[in-house]
Amino acid sequence: MSAFPRVRFLTSAHQARQFPPDTGAEVAVAGRSNAGKSTAINAIVQRKGLAKTSKTPGATRLINFFELEAGRRLVDLPGYGFAAVPGQMREHWGTLIEGYFKRRECLRGAIVVMDVRHPLTEHDQSMLELALAQSVPVHIVLTKADKLGRGAGRQAMAAVQKAVGPAVTVQLFSALNGDGVGEARGALLRLLASRPEKENPVGPADPTGQGKPGVGG
Ligand code: GDP
Repeated sequence: MSAFPRVRFLTSAHQARQFPPDTGAEVAVAGRSNAGKSTAINAIVQRKGLAKTSKTPGATRLINFFELEAGRRLVDLPGYGFAAVPGQMREHWGTLIEGYFKRRECLRGAIVVMDVRHPLTEHDQSMLELALAQSVPVHIVLTKADKLGRGAGRQAMAAVQKAVGPAVTVQLFSALNGDGVGEARGALLRLLASRPEKENPVGPADPTGQGKPGVGG
């Protein structure tokens, strides 16, 4: 059975005032255009075609909100790093995403999707910095692992883990053969259930009692 049988598209936003109410718990998914983010989202929530996979990198210019279940959302951030996007529009996305990370109280974590063959691009680094500066726990999903042999995949993962440090969790993933899909879903659930670290230390109680997010996994 699907982990999220009632998952549904909520809304698209290109301005902060179009975001759904800032309540419940949200996990944002980010990644360079064409990294495999939409494919990963669809595999994780087991719903084909939910996030639009695109043949045109950079076409997704909106923040898409999906409701996984009542009060729990997955937020598909626009793919970044596509050179053909005009500078002004890039700036708008940057400001929008930065504002989202800085002000979104219900944000519990970020999943950053990277092609295992080209991890930690400059834009990926900026995204990690943005999240970590706001104390938002990060989980890195290295997609298209099927394109590398097992040894090379592990090596790539170890290199990324070393670069980002132990506070960030890292995994290999392939939507093609299903490797790591359960692990990624577990990370999503863990982040959703984690206690907010952002500001507001007397926020809503953590019903899971799991304590600090962002470690282990
Ligand atoms: P997005 O722009 O990051 O949302 O990327 P998409 O999900 O649209 O995927 C970009 C391309 O990579 C598509 O052609 C996908 O079929 C392909 N792709 C995505 N995930 C995988 C994977 O795990 N393995 C392989 N081999 N290809 C993948």
